[in-house]
Amino acid sequence: MTKYRLLILMLPLSLVNGCSPNPYKATNRSYKAQVRNYAHQISQTPLTTGTDSVPAPPYWVGTVNFNLRKPNFVIIHHTAQNSCPQTLQTFTLTKTQVSAHYVICRDGTIHHMLNDYLRAWQAGVSKWGNITDINSISIGIELDNNGFEPFPDAQITSLLHLLTTLKAAYHIPSANFIGHGDIAPGRKDDPSYLFPWKTLSDHGFGLWYGDTTGITVPPDFNSLMALRLIGYDIHDSAAVTMAFKRHFEADTIKSWEAPDEKILYMLYRAYQ
Ligand SMILES: [Zn+2]
Repeated sequence: MTKYRLLILMLPLSLVNGCSPNPYKATNRSYKAQVRNYAHQISQTPLTTGTDSVPAPPYWVGTVNFNLRKPNFVIIHHTAQNSCPQTLQTFTLTKTQVSAHYVICRDGTIHHMLNDYLRAWQAGVSKWGNITDINSISIGIELDNNGFEPFPDAQITSLLHLLTTLKAAYHIPSANFIGHGDIAPGRKDDPSYLFPWKTLSDHGFGLWYGDTTGITVPPDFNSLMALRLIGYDIHDSAAVTMAFKRHFEADTIKSWEAPDEKILYMLYRAYQ
């Protein structure tokens, strides 16, 4: 055997194929094992035992009309970390207890880390309207961003591509594309005020307001109630004011002024 042929045989297959070896083989095995467990869990026949006061049915009857539950919200985050590899590592360490369905890197690469039908641990303690288990009904998307920098065009282009796919696949209403900071005011501030919500809304993801000139706000308009109706948890009025401004009035985020009443009134009507 020539030296050259020996070298070829010694090269890992992945290098010959032109791609790097997957450093996440072990955690991917763990992912698949967990999915098998959940598949086994949902394939179980429901229990039909009775109690002292509730009689047991004579036999089990399963319906034939059903499908999988679908996500109805998309929650957008920034990672507050310095690189995509750092975030991928964070979401594959059990001690962190956090995850997301998707991570989008600064160059636009999309990592799909969890099947959309499974529950990621991304929203945490949060509330929107009367929904308190946001993780059970949403898809979480993390954007690689340290929280103080603009979001690159390539990353936003990939995000819009992904949102188009998700909106069509699960029939997610435009109003249900929101940020982590919206559902956890005072606790979370992502995505930052640099996130282009207006651009997203122009593409049908999230609501926005129109031209406020000529808009008359009714004299009995209650700003806090309007925020509540949009979906915000108004428990902490200062926190919800900042959350609203971060999303809809980023140019005044550094002042403590109340939200612009005309903008809030237009959004309150849009969310009806
Ligand atoms: Zn977040």
